[in-house]
Amino acid sequence: MRIGIPTEVKSGEYRVALTPAGVSVLKGAGHEVLVQAGAGAGSGFEDEEYAAEGAALAADASEVWQRAELIMKVKEPLPEEFGYFRPGLLLFTYLHLAAAPELARALKAREVTAIAYETIQLPGGGLPLLTPMSEVAGRMAVQVGSRFLEARHGGRGILLGGVPGVPPAEVIIIGGGIVGTNAARIALGMGASVVILERSADRMRYLDEVWSGRIGTLMSNPYNIAQAVRKADLLIGAVLIPGARAPRLVTDEMVQTMKKGAVIVDVAVDQGGTIATIDRVTTHEQPVYERHGVIHYAVANMPGAVPRTSTYALTNVTLPYALEIASKGLERAIEGNPSLKLGVNTHCGRVTHRQVAEAVGLPF
Ligand code: NAD
Repeated sequence: MRIGIPTEVKSGEYRVALTPAGVSVLKGAGHEVLVQAGAGAGSGFEDEEYAAEGAALAADASEVWQRAELIMKVKEPLPEEFGYFRPGLLLFTYLHLAAAPELARALKAREVTAIAYETIQLPGGGLPLLTPMSEVAGRMAVQVGSRFLEARHGGRGILLGGVPGVPPAEVIIIGGGIVGTNAARIALGMGASVVILERSADRMRYLDEVWSGRIGTLMSNPYNIAQAVRKADLLIGAVLIPGARAPRLVTDEMVQTMKKGAVIVDVAVDQGGTIATIDRVTTHEQPVYERHGVIHYAVANMPGAVPRTSTYALTNVTLPYALEIASKGLERAIEGNPSLKLGVNTHCGRVTHRQVAEAVGLPF
């Protein structure tokens, strides 16, 4: 199969859908790879690195879209890319169609087979192509939090790990899933005192076991949240209720009790935010604002700040699926892989994912 890698066009997106190592794997399996010149530049990959692994380079996006049978991307196509859609084209990317009805209609009308990274689901419910971005965001949450705790950024002027004779910072994490545990791991590594609030007793049991009690766990309820938030130097929102808006667990009044110069990093801002005073999404250019003397960080695409790490992490998990689609063809690939089947959002002029169809008001 011929696989095409166009340059991402969304503003601020520096990731790319395939690394030179990915080209080598696909070529090794007998496929052709067509990479738009400059597509890897934002992640630090030169055209020559792709060419050295056997990729053909295309001068522009239209050549990639027209010649490829399978297009691999990172972000959803923008309206300027809809013109490239054609019947039978395979598209493999993050789509988030529930929030993009216009794109869903365009894919359906042009009979594109669109496979969404985010709806590929393992039998246990895990979302394998979302996990790496949560790992990145969780680890980054502590990195940015510690930066904004520095006095020159308006923070309390404290070091996460403290020093002998001076206590470490209190890091409070609400939600002990992928983001929360990755944040905890980095905070613990930097010597902070870490507490995770969770609503799942089983999850807390697991966290307690893996860290042998070195991280505190607390049942997530309004009383415990209020107590913990008051003490926090760094508060991280990391809650997810699949398919729903993030619950507002930290009230405006609770934020008012926080120490001056404390920092909030609400990673769940992409689902609406867990903290009442997070009332807007911020950008990497202007990541923070202040409310009640507390610094608020609310960037919805945190992995975008570290595109090289994020590109490697993403392509590590997308490549096996791309290889399966390319080698077997979509029909045979989904026959033997129910997780991949759940990724198919549109096919032959139909919306093939129930929740997506309901969200965008199209027949299933
Ligand atoms: P996850 O499903 O792995 O973990 C969510 C955890 O929240 C679960 O353990 C769940 O039990 C817990 N939870 C649910 N309700 C709770 C409550 N009331 N109190 C305490 N805990 C509760 O999800 P994840 O992958 O860790 O993602 C967390 C959030 O981060 C999501 O909103 C996700 O979209 C977001 N995210 C944001 C970025 C970004 O760049 N801002 C990047 C990746 C992920």
